[in-house]
Amino acid sequence: MKPAPFTYRRPVTLQEALEALAGDSGAKVLAGGQSLVPLLSMRLAAPTMLVDINGLPDLAGIEAGPDGVRVGALARHSDVLADRAVRQTQPLLGQALQHVAHPTIRNRGTTVGSLVHADAAAELPVVLTLLGGSVEVASSTGTRTIAAHDLFAGPLESTLEHDELAVSAFFPALPPGAGVAFDEIARRHGDYALCGVAALVQEERVRVGYLSVSDVPTVVDLTGVADTDLGDAALEHLDPADDIHATADYRAQLVRVLTQRVVASARRAA
Ligand code: FAD
Repeated sequence: MKPAPFTYRRPVTLQEALEALAGDSGAKVLAGGQSLVPLLSMRLAAPTMLVDINGLPDLAGIEAGPDGVRVGALARHSDVLADRAVRQTQPLLGQALQHVAHPTIRNRGTTVGSLVHADAAAELPVVLTLLGGSVEVASSTGTRTIAAHDLFAGPLESTLEHDELAVSAFFPALPPGAGVAFDEIARRHGDYALCGVAALVQEERVRVGYLSVSDVPTVVDLTGVADTDLGDAALEHLDPADDIHATADYRAQLVRVLTQRVVASARRAA
């Protein structure tokens, strides 16, 4: 199947990109194209205009500092994964990115695009939510910061307005004495996970994030829960569902097994 007709714009300044978005309520940003292009080809999305941001290299920056990691809208998953300073500042990013698709897709797909795409089966939305990160967005009328807990409205739905461009994402640094860990089960390495779990442990506090077992990335506070009860306590906040890849019962079992395993790893890392 071929995409529905659309106008293509490739701006060379941010202002030009924002004006293009503001001028057409059916416009969509094209970043790495790893999610949008398949959707166009299957006619599951039919934007009237594509605003290709690949002509804006100023958005490709990755900065790791004492407070955290800022990733620009054009930084590819592979660049973030390869950055040593990122791994030192916030190891959870690299741990999760290893599970995002395959190298060819990571070479093109962007970390910010993955956040805005808001797939509940994706790794990075859970990482951003667990860490309490945020996304900086711009429009022709100004800028604003959206905290992770306000970013994900539903399956494949973020809270960005049609005329807003996400210019960067901020992932807070690992706090002193804290530990993080990530693991997931997929049918094949690089496939979307049947269930994925990220944990952040700091002193007695235990917070755990889940992907593929609810409509939006979900973070559960499991502080004070006995190790053997961690999975069942988390399942009270999750909604695993049947699909062609796995039953809801199997997903619930993955929550139990992975939660215990990932929390133990985060404790060892702390
Ligand atoms: P695009 O495809 O260009 O855009 C996706 C959506 O986000 C569009 O609606 C677009 O308008 C919007 N958008 C993108 N950037 C911006 C921005 N800066 N501002 C506003 N809106 C924006 N992902 C995973 O997380 N885990 C996986 O296991 C995984 N497996 C994959 C396997 C395959 C075979 C493929 C093809 C993809 C897979 N992906 C996976 C998706 C991949 O990570 C994508 O790169 C990512 O989801 C979207 O990033 P992108 O830059 O390609 O965005």
